[in-house]
Amino acid sequence: MDTHQNLQARLFKYAEQLGFGELHFKLDHDTGLFAIVAVHSTKLGPALGGCRCIEYETINEAMRDVLRLAQGMSYKAALANLQLGGGKAVILKPKEIKDRKAYFEAFGEFVETLGGRYITAVDSGTSPYDMDIIATKTKHVTSTTDIDGDPSPFTAHGVCRSVQAAVKHKLGHDSLDGLHVAIQGVGHVGRLLAHELHSLGARLTVTDVNEENLKYCVEQFNAQVVHPDEIYAVDCDVFSPCALGASINDDTIPQLKCSIIVGAANNQLAESRHGSILLEKGILYAPDFVVNSGGLIYACAQYYKLPKKEVHQKVDKIYDTLLEIFTRSDEEKRATSIIADEVALERLNKGE
Ligand code: NAD
Repeated sequence: MDTHQNLQARLFKYAEQLGFGELHFKLDHDTGLFAIVAVHSTKLGPALGGCRCIEYETINEAMRDVLRLAQGMSYKAALANLQLGGGKAVILKPKEIKDRKAYFEAFGEFVETLGGRYITAVDSGTSPYDMDIIATKTKHVTSTTDIDGDPSPFTAHGVCRSVQAAVKHKLGHDSLDGLHVAIQGVGHVGRLLAHELHSLGARLTVTDVNEENLKYCVEQFNAQVVHPDEIYAVDCDVFSPCALGASINDDTIPQLKCSIIVGAANNQLAESRHGSILLEKGILYAPDFVVNSGGLIYACAQYYKLPKKEVHQKVDKIYDTLLEIFTRSDEEKRATSIIADEVALERLNKGE
């Protein structure tokens, strides 16, 4: 069995392997706050990343989560050409938060001590109202209630541009007219994506566990509906995971009949080896953290108060970034997911 010290040593080794710069811990006895902020990199700018407030079984589990997520933010920001580094906060949520105001004030004070190297935002278990409380203690916070915080339209547009890039690369078409796209999950992003694809002439098959969302897609976009278990086997051009993580795995890959995968969901590949399996099968996979970076681009613009025009330009650029990754993947015969990580790392190391 692992000793406590062994576990600690392994976690710090893991942090080192991921190229971490800073790890900060805060214990506030008065409010019961126990938070960790991981700053993966500040080479390209301050590290922006959400604050997750959920229950963890162990501190090690929380540590792994914050390290993995902060590194992902660095890579996403680098590939989206943003002046941002990558960071993340996790709060180890107690069974009950007795005084939410005092709790998030304490977190705000913690963020303030980092001097702007980390900028916090909403994530699982936190809301814009919590960000308002944090904002009373630090200015290094975004997604407060006074700004239109929904990034979904920008994320959806980025996914649509990604579909266009993948169709251009794999099928040689500039138009989406007549393309068949199967969307898994028509919530905030999936529904807006369906709208854009429909207006560009694509044919849609959708699934969801929410009947209302499906009804909307049938009425508005004349979409076909399938049961959630059947979406993988739909004979289509593009499969678009917009609901869950890890939907590309050993069980689902053999069912796929698409030639392209492009979706908004985070962490679509259950394991990194699945990227290589898709390559072997001739399915073009657009790496999720490039595809769904429209949300981060919007958050960055909110923080720096950039005009909407600039947001649109950066979201449009996702198209070019993906073409670069697809071409290099063809040339080097290596998975697009691996190439995307390498391109991100190259940009981070160059500091550009
Ligand atoms: P959402 O919760 O609004 O939509 C998800 C949809 O998936 C819901 O309609 C839900 O009913 C459906 N769903 C849940 N389980 C399902 C299942 N088993 N089969 C089919 N459908 C199922 O979330 P969202 O904001 O649209 O985000 C979608 C995905 O994109 C998430 O993974 C999210 O992390 C990721 N993402 C979103 C944004 C954004 O701007 N909202 C940005 C980056 C990444």
